[in-house]
Amino acid sequence: MKYSNFMEITFKALSVNEGFARVCVASFCVQLNPSVDEITDIKTAVSEAVTNCVVHAYPTSVKGDVILRCELEDDTVSITITDKGVGIKDVIKAREPFYTSKPSAERSGMGFTVMESFMDNVQVVSNSFGTSVTMTKKISSGLSAVVG
Ligand code: ATP
Ligand code: MG
Repeated sequence: MKYSNFMEITFKALSVNEGFARVCVASFCVQLNPSVDEITDIKTAVSEAVTNCVVHAYPTSVKGDVILRCELEDDTVSITITDKGVGIKDVIKAREPFYTSKPSAERSGMGFTVMESFMDNVQVVSNSFGTSVTMTKKISSGLSAVVG
């Protein structure tokens, strides 16, 4: 059986929306019957990606949008977080552990490393028009809730 579903939301790049995004994704993923550990991993990764949009994408006081898309295909969740901000000049460097462009702002440079640790796959596409981070994770007990 092929199971597929998706949702997409857009919200302003404000820190108050980090928790909102975590809860939205977690609620949506419940239909795959994830374990507590799996849902915690997903929420943590989403938090890091959305925080990056809030902290880095829109450096001026004019905050733009964050688009969060979540797709389910059988037992795998795919989450894409997109902004239309300044982009990342060197994605390879940005993904290195402990690299941060804001050391003075108490950033540790571990956001991408956390995403990579907690998700199966992380792809980053960026240019001067914005950044898109796509993360996937296979859910061990996936689908038993909707099929069983
Ligand atoms: P931490 O996540 O530990 O607080 P950090 O955000 O600096 O620190 P990462 O999340 O790993 O670390 O990101 C590394 C760097 O990539 C950032 O310092 C920033 O320069 C750049 N970056 C990440 N996401 C974006 C984005 N959406 N738009 C622009 N730059 C970004
Ligand atoms: Mg970060």
